[in-house]
Amino acid sequence: MATTRAAVVPTAGTSAAPADRKQIAVTNPATGEAVGAVPDQTAAEVDALAQTLRAAQLEWEDLGPRGRARHLLNWLNWIVDNSDHVLGLVHREAGKSWGDASIELMVCVEVINYYAKRGGKFLADERRSIHGPASFNKRLRILRRPYQLVGVITPWNYPLAMQMMDVPGALMAGAAVLTKPSEVTPLAWAEVVRAWNEEIDAPPVLGCATGAGETGRAVIEAVDMIQFTGSTRTGRAIGIRAAERLIPASLELGGKDAMIVLSDADLDRAVRGAVWGGLFNAGQSCVAVERIYVEAPVYDEFVHRLVAEVGRLRQGHDAQGAFAADYGAMATVDQLAIVEHHVADALAKGARVLTGGRRAERGLFYPATVLVDVDHSMDCIREETFGPLLPVMRVKSEEEAIALANDSQYGLAGSVWTSSPARGRRVGRRIETGGMNINNAMTNVFQFPLPMGGWKQSGIGHRFGGPNGVRKYTRQQAFVSERIPLKNEMHWYPYTLAKGALVRRVLRLTGTHGWKRRLGRTPS
Ligand code: NAD
Repeated sequence: MATTRAAVVPTAGTSAAPADRKQIAVTNPATGEAVGAVPDQTAAEVDALAQTLRAAQLEWEDLGPRGRARHLLNWLNWIVDNSDHVLGLVHREAGKSWGDASIELMVCVEVINYYAKRGGKFLADERRSIHGPASFNKRLRILRRPYQLVGVITPWNYPLAMQMMDVPGALMAGAAVLTKPSEVTPLAWAEVVRAWNEEIDAPPVLGCATGAGETGRAVIEAVDMIQFTGSTRTGRAIGIRAAERLIPASLELGGKDAMIVLSDADLDRAVRGAVWGGLFNAGQSCVAVERIYVEAPVYDEFVHRLVAEVGRLRQGHDAQGAFAADYGAMATVDQLAIVEHHVADALAKGARVLTGGRRAERGLFYPATVLVDVDHSMDCIREETFGPLLPVMRVKSEEEAIALANDSQYGLAGSVWTSSPARGRRVGRRIETGGMNINNAMTNVFQFPLPMGGWKQSGIGHRFGGPNGVRKYTRQQAFVSERIPLKNEMHWYPYTLAKGALVRRVLRLTGTHGWKRRLGRTPS
């Protein structure tokens, strides 16, 4: 049953709200219907929210990993118990198919469970052995203390999952978290933050600021560390401001992932992988298959099967719970315009459309489109499309495929399709990307023990996955203590001739190489 609850407003930090505050309307891009609205929060409101969150952080940190995990798991239970309501918001605010919307719940379940279970281990103090004789009496440890307030800013393509990839790690680290979802799709996230603050009796360490770029800028000013996911352009601006403020910024940006189909690939699987990897969420995934290179011997057969498979897909905005459409609408008019531009540019430069190629008359729908006769002069190959385009290029050899795949400003992920594991490793490791999938597409993002991050213009740092997904929200404290209490140290005052000579002898004996030199003789 479709829910009509919407118009969710964040709860924490709204006390500074001006009486004439503007609202941002949220519209279903598939149908044009109003879904809800959120406040366009001012810098003063963001600042007030940040202060509330900071005030609660120390107590949150003091709960320890197990105490924090308990609240995260309560939150997860609430989300699953209310998943029809929450996914209903995702479904409508993004104009997705119900199936595409439902996958976001899987990210909530997997990421929260992963970090709730392992956070304690990842945050445990680390012992280090001493190095050098001068440290013989030392006990060395690395302690991890969270940044007090972490900011998480996300785009519109996965209203729930984008925040969910970052927030559990930051909360498990012991930080308070100030989130800002996209102004295009803020409702589902604002609702789960409301649940954290009102439904599960959790400490008030998670806040949601709503608004567009100005609100995002205010978040950067308020936090001690920023995790940003979005376009390369915005990421660069945020990186610059973070550098000016001397706060760390972890940036997950755009992508242009290449799929390489070698002549020995299982074509049935490769075609289905191309279709899911390129068209899931109407192609609006940073790690979507954005360009396909196929070795000449199997090119014609691959393209033939790809067009047939694309023809079987159902596009639409099905009813909640129906699973009656495969992929849905584009989230914004601007994004749809980029797709139209990439097709027009390709056609003008000699490409051919084999299927699709023209937007629907109603709703922001663009059909899955296969383009051939494409080359590296075209925007559909060089720029991020973030839409349901599958441009396919014939290549002579695996060497040519590698060179073309690497001829990109982006380096997020990619895939190689082959029946030879050795060939897969050989080709895959030469692709300049932060993630690589052999005989699969996009799946590296869902392998939570592995780091997810982009190279080149696709980002700085790793977003989540493995121990670093929690540790990145902490600062390392080099913690040194004395094993045996001594009255003095060799290198402390007063300096004397005898101590100086002794230190030099010990250094020569333990720090140089070759027995003659150790004994004080300079080898001739
Ligand atoms: P965007 O960069 O326009 O906006 C992202 C977020 O930043 C939004 O919440 C926006 O309000 C906020 N923002 C805008 N200007 C800001 C500023 N000056 N300071 C602070 N915050 C600001 O991106 P988008 O159009 O929402 O999303 C599409 C882009 O996101 C694509 O390029 C896509 O590749 C990228 N993306 C990357 C990943 C990844 O993991 N690498 C995942 C999803 C999307």
